[in-house]
Amino acid sequence: MATPIIIAVDDDPQVRNAVRRDLNAHFAPDYRVLDAGSGAEGLEVLEALKARGDVVALFLVDQRMPEMTGTEFLVEARPFFPDAKRALLTAYADTDAAISAINEVDLDHYLMKPWDPPEDNLYPILDDLLEDWVANTPATFDGIRVVGTTWSPATYEVKDFLARNQIPYRFLDIERDEEAEAILRAGSDDDQTIPVVLFADGTRLVDPDRRAIAEQVGLQTEADKPFYDLIIVGGGPAGLAAAVYGASEGLRTVMVESEAPGGQAGTSSRIENYLGFPSGVSGADLARRAATQAARLGAELLTATTVASVTTEDNIKVVTLDTGAEMRSHAVLIASGMSLRKLNVPGYERFEGAGVFYGAALAEAATYRDQPVYVVGGANSAGQAAMLFSKYASQVTMVVRGESLELKMSAYLIDQIAAQDNIDVVVGTQVVEVEGENRVERIRLKNLKTEEESVDEAAAIFIFVGAVPHSDFVTDLVATNDRGFIYTGPDIALAEDVVWRLDRDPLALETSVPGVFAAGDVRHDAMRRVASAVGTGAMSVSMIHQYLSEV
Ligand SMILES: Cc1cc2nc3c(=O)[nH]c(=O)nc-3n(C[C@H](O)[C@H](O)[C@H](O)COP(=O)(O)OP(=O)(O)OC[C@H]3O[C@@H](n4cnc5c(N)ncnc54)[C@H](O)[C@@H]3O)c2cc1C
Repeated sequence: MATPIIIAVDDDPQVRNAVRRDLNAHFAPDYRVLDAGSGAEGLEVLEALKARGDVVALFLVDQRMPEMTGTEFLVEARPFFPDAKRALLTAYADTDAAISAINEVDLDHYLMKPWDPPEDNLYPILDDLLEDWVANTPATFDGIRVVGTTWSPATYEVKDFLARNQIPYRFLDIERDEEAEAILRAGSDDDQTIPVVLFADGTRLVDPDRRAIAEQVGLQTEADKPFYDLIIVGGGPAGLAAAVYGASEGLRTVMVESEAPGGQAGTSSRIENYLGFPSGVSGADLARRAATQAARLGAELLTATTVASVTTEDNIKVVTLDTGAEMRSHAVLIASGMSLRKLNVPGYERFEGAGVFYGAALAEAATYRDQPVYVVGGANSAGQAAMLFSKYASQVTMVVRGESLELKMSAYLIDQIAAQDNIDVVVGTQVVEVEGENRVERIRLKNLKTEEESVDEAAAIFIFVGAVPHSDFVTDLVATNDRGFIYTGPDIALAEDVVWRLDRDPLALETSVPGVFAAGDVRHDAMRRVASAVGTGAMSVSMIHQYLSEV
């Protein structure tokens, strides 16, 4: 790929010279720095670059320019290089314009003039934007090829694992690609098993598990040290936050993650409510940043590695992996999160993401404007979603298994739903099938009393049928509620038959076993949000320090 370009647009020659000088000093030779004296001139440059096949990575544009403002320029520039990062140079008085540009042009950042010293006020911000750009720009193909079909779950798993670990690959579909068929035929005998994964060094793995891929691409899967201060189980936001704080505060810290860093948050296309990201942040970006930060601060991150059990030997915690390997530490943090329960009926899998959504896929609400949508579930989360979708959809139907909403929903929500003309509630009913060609078109419902079935038009189905905690590997060790969510701190008293064996009270995030802590969604009564997972993950480290001072 040709050297990517940074374009600065500023009408003031003095500012333009200063920008060019500072950008060249830090970013050459990795980036080529070009500049223009007006929006119109900038657009001419873009046209020429596009024609030559060049790539722009970043626009740095002054908001205050006569004839065409910075925001207006970015609107015009976007179709040329839609993936380029967009930053505005603003004066204090332009802050409002910059904030509205976040929505108008998907602005990534606005910087205040003057930016001296650039080491503090310019480079860190632009470095960050460019790192993001690099991570999201298809890298020069480095040789990993995945051969399979779009509809094969095993192929999907391999692609998902590579993508979530930020490993570039090329997908070859055997139904459409001759090269794919040739690769498959080159395998031994008549074996047509898919997926086949080919690596740059010629290694060929057939239907590999995550661990085999991780080892082949050089991800760490085994612990380096014989003993740690802190072992963290799970690499979602809670585990990553604990890894960052643990390592930065001098604890020998290892995080064990069975899939890829990021957890549930890593699968979200845009997290809009995480503090400090006014334009939202994709789960993949957040995970990549946090994992890089944790590793830089000295935490070990094991991926594709699953914890099978946690036991204690006096004060020592023994963490056994599913490979049989053991790791030992003073303290353990369980940050293994949860999964949303799936709707197990014919059709649902085929349409996942194409009309069937789990949880409040808020970003999808507007997609189904003026179309009929279904919300499955009868608790508060389902009610809140129904209210939200009713602003867009022509009709929202809530499908509830129980005999009434009162069983699980707060009274205020029941009132709001009753007052909303375009929400219908069908109780004592369950979904039996999801139907359609390439996307959801119909839903088949069954009345549980009469057994009568009906088929109705549906454009999308949002599912809120509960959550399953990832706590199987510790249910013999720590106290949990009847659904398997882990009790911590004062809530331990809610568990029957638990004897707390120390003189002091359990610390706020400590489980019923001293030195074993829990953070994030796996806790009983957790607020299921990225910020609270990060908050409890970070807080747990100060409690772990307190615990370590006792042992
Ligand atoms: C699609 C989607 C969108 C969301 N959007 C938002 C949003 O916009 N804003 C918001 O605030 N919240 C959002 N959430 C909720 C948010 O993502 C979660 O609250 C948060 O991720 C919980 O973090 P956690 O670290 O506790 O657990 P998780 O994110 O569940 O991570 C737990 C990790 O532990 C690993 N693990 C489990 N068991 C083991 C084991 N035995 N050994 C090793 N590793 C193990 C799992 O693989 C997983 O990576 C969203 C959730 C989803 C599913």
